[in-house]
Amino acid sequence: MTENTHVVGVLVDPTEKAEWVEELNRQVAASDLPLRIDTEADPAEVDYMVYNIDSGMFDFTPYTKLRAILNTWAGVEGALKTLNWPDHVPFCRMVEPGMTIGMVEYFLAHTMRYHMDTDRSVTQSAEGRWQKYMPPLAADRGVGILGLGALGTAIAERMAANGFQVHGWARSAKDIPGVTTHHGAEGLQECLSQAEILCIILPLTSETEKILNAETLARLPGGACIINAGRGPLIDDDALLEALANRHIRHATLDVFREEPLPADHPYWKHPNVTVTPHIAAFTRTKSATSAILEQIRCDLHGFALQHVVDRARGY
Ligand code: NAP
Repeated sequence: MTENTHVVGVLVDPTEKAEWVEELNRQVAASDLPLRIDTEADPAEVDYMVYNIDSGMFDFTPYTKLRAILNTWAGVEGALKTLNWPDHVPFCRMVEPGMTIGMVEYFLAHTMRYHMDTDRSVTQSAEGRWQKYMPPLAADRGVGILGLGALGTAIAERMAANGFQVHGWARSAKDIPGVTTHHGAEGLQECLSQAEILCIILPLTSETEKILNAETLARLPGGACIINAGRGPLIDDDALLEALANRHIRHATLDVFREEPLPADHPYWKHPNVTVTPHIAAFTRTKSATSAILEQIRCDLHGFALQHVVDRARGY
């Protein structure tokens, strides 16, 4: 190693640290990058930090040489609340193909369950009941997607490739082939009104909290289904339970909750029209995520802009 070697620190959930360090060392050794993975380095010597808040470290003040914080998670609302890091240091969200593909497959699986009314087949089969029914084709099914970022765009593209009528909504205008895109307050109403199956993959910010409430739920077509893998507080839980009770909403699949793990006495557990999944929609996959991290560092070392930099003011 020369004096041009850059130091990469690793501050992550302690149960994951060994795996990250091993994979980083493996991929750095196989690359031409002038990097040293060093979990014991003096903070003043660290150039890049692979990080998540489950490390329990929240103050980057001693890291005076830091060029970037590379978060191992896509969601950053926790870091934005708890972390002290200097303005001039970019804080990057995780975007990596393993997580993206996992998320696309999660939404596709639950969308197809609703689309094909798979539960009905399971019930009828268990009851020994021969009763024909014909689901619509995907071309006649409206799927709405709230959030068209790294994950939402990939979901929208896959839904479009599967032939659904896809409507997506984001803060800013988008152009995604095969997808009708909406933005702004009016755009939200339009997107909701087309969404027989609503996929929610927004970040949690002061603007998106309880974005799905009594008023917005009422905009969905009667009998709509909801899949939320963004964050729990995006949904007003009381409003959703009410909409499930009056059958305006047929079913909800929820991966994320205001409190996690979901408390044992929460009405979502055992609700006949709610499927709870334990925050498993998409994981950061260490191997592909390490490649993404090293690509970010390579860009930075070559003077190119880092990607997926969190905007503190926007909150994501
Ligand atoms: P991203 O690339 O930052 O995309 C966020 C999207 O939300 C963007 O399209 C953005 O609009 C839109 N948005 C934000 N605020 C909005 C507002 N007020 N009105 C309308 N649209 C708004 O994030 P991502 O990588 O796709 O991840 C999204 C979220 O998924 C994460 O924040 C995290 O909470 C969640 N997640 C969950 C899991 C899980 O396992 N359950 C795993 C990974 C991620 P613009 O494009 O116009 O900026």
